[in-house]
Amino acid sequence: MGFRRRLNPLSNLLILAYLVRFANHFSFAYGKSNGTQDSVTPINHDLYHTSGALLEEIESLVHRHPDKLSIEKISGKNKGYEAEMTVVTYCRNRKENDDRTKLRILLTFGQHARELITTELALRLLSILSEEEFLPSVDRSTLNRTLDRLVIKVVPVENLNGRKLVEDGELCERRNGRGVDLNRNWAVDWGKKEKDYDPYEENPGTGPFSEPETQIMRKLSVSFEPHIWVNVHSGMEALFMPYDHKNTTPEGIPSKIMKSMLEKLNHFHLKDHCLIGSGGGSVGYLAHGTATDYMYDIARVPMAYTFEIYGDLKASSRDCFKMFNPIDITSFNSVLNDWSAAFFQMFTIGVQQMNGLQPKAIGSSFDNWVSIDDYLNGYLMHRKSRYGKKMEVLDLGLQEIRTYFRLFLLSSVLLLFMFCSRISKSTRPIVSAMAL
Ligand SMILES: [Zn+2]
Repeated sequence: MGFRRRLNPLSNLLILAYLVRFANHFSFAYGKSNGTQDSVTPINHDLYHTSGALLEEIESLVHRHPDKLSIEKISGKNKGYEAEMTVVTYCRNRKENDDRTKLRILLTFGQHARELITTELALRLLSILSEEEFLPSVDRSTLNRTLDRLVIKVVPVENLNGRKLVEDGELCERRNGRGVDLNRNWAVDWGKKEKDYDPYEENPGTGPFSEPETQIMRKLSVSFEPHIWVNVHSGMEALFMPYDHKNTTPEGIPSKIMKSMLEKLNHFHLKDHCLIGSGGGSVGYLAHGTATDYMYDIARVPMAYTFEIYGDLKASSRDCFKMFNPIDITSFNSVLNDWSAAFFQMFTIGVQQMNGLQPKAIGSSFDNWVSIDDYLNGYLMHRKSRYGKKMEVLDLGLQEIRTYFRLFLLSSVLLLFMFCSRISKSTRPIVSAMAL
């Protein structure tokens, strides 16, 4: 069932308000000027790192914590265009990096170049994971029990080439270094264009995975096989689940579990500010060829999300830095604090499902929660049963056809018999009449 059908009138009003705000955002995203010469906010370098400084800081963090963190740089090339990506792996005991019994989480930040705040969140999460920073009101030993059970891969700046263009002054750039939108370059429904498609903002590339950045991310998902995927963006406040290319969420229990997690994060950490639902169904437009739809549909990641962590939808359409990133220290810190807490709760919920812990430990609304393994089995069973049902329908159809065919044969024989007997009766008078 779609997200909207279950909404009460108040929620509908909220959605409407969001859509009005989003229309403003969208007119910007599609390059339409609002006709006024508003001032453009520059990058606040007191708050934000350059991509170079951010990656350097992450590298030194890794070197300070070799027991927990490891780093690799992956590069790719396509038709003369090169991209390099830094991937940080966290495991509380690094020797257990490849332990397949642990929960695997893949997080990517900075897929869209102008969304600088997302990459700052990556650094904050890694700092907390390496125990150089702490979450307020979270008991470290409880947290460590969670962290013992998982492996996290973090891509802090997915779109480094695009990010450099932003740093060089193109504050509205969201695409990669050669003008392709990395969140339209994936294989699910690739290249489909809506009526309001903007070839500049949403350029999907020359084909699915034409961009080295997308190829690297895809390979990462294939080798790591994450249980949880989060693609972190900004531009609004939302917790999205599949699908982006249609306005529904997947059917069945797994989808309800995914949504239930989002509601928890929204309520306890994000002041219920976030829109929740399918990307396509909640923002009022469909997006084709997105990473999260691929992760869910093709890579079979059980929990695949897109988080939109901040948006100033009142900002002028030309004022991209302000629209996508908090510009003062108070909102900068509150975004990082709130979302860090939300991510760590997501880790905890993921691990609790994996352990098959009793739901009462985390609240009554989780009464239906099951372990990840049971959930996956259930998911597969669900899919099998769907096919099973189709087979039953087919069998029923064949049986009906057989019955109709028998009836048809029987009635044909009867008709033939009646026809023959009538001919034999009517033959004699004709003959006698001809005799007269
Ligand atoms: Zn984005």
